[in-house]
Amino acid sequence: TTPTFAIVGRPNVGKSTLFNRLVGRKLALVDDRPGVTRDRREGDGRLGHLAFRIIDTAGLEEADEGSLLGRMRAQTEAAIQDADVVLFVIDARTGLLPADRPFAELVRRSGKPVILLANKAEGAAGLSGAYEAFGLGLGDPVAISAEHGEGLGELFAALSQFF
Ligand code: GDP
Ligand code: MG
Repeated sequence: TTPTFAIVGRPNVGKSTLFNRLVGRKLALVDDRPGVTRDRREGDGRLGHLAFRIIDTAGLEEADEGSLLGRMRAQTEAAIQDADVVLFVIDARTGLLPADRPFAELVRRSGKPVILLANKAEGAAGLSGAYEAFGLGLGDPVAISAEHGEGLGELFAALSQFF
């Protein structure tokens, strides 16, 4: 059967960019402005000969501050529930931020298998952030650049385990 992967992480780490790369279409809105309405998107992904379902989780919705975290959390939890495997994304350039923690905690508590992705790792600039990602205790990070299409061979190898 076709596995379902959910892309999870704090806003602005590049989840939608990765989603668009894997579905090969711009179904998800890539935007670095906070406050833009971004719905959950689901599509048919491909990488090499691997075919799968993939869920993008929105970063933010137009909402008052009080409900914002709750909505992000609920949407992330629902996506994790629906997924066989979680792709947990961090930004290798900024390294780990406090905002990554609650998302990592949801992933950890779900007990679902997780692939840790250190995105924005094009060139050498992302290396330190990728190493920092070890500290999450979610395994060995796979360094990728969703925007520039780097690290896709390693991503392919990581996804392959679930077919
Ligand atoms: P999301 O909020 O996690 O869905 O993040 P987006 O996909 O909307 O991307 C947030 C910002 O990061 C955008 O400006 C993207 O162009 C940028 N971005 C995404 N992937 C990469 C990458 O691999 N390298 C770099 N340098 N920037 C990226
Ligand atoms: Mg997004």
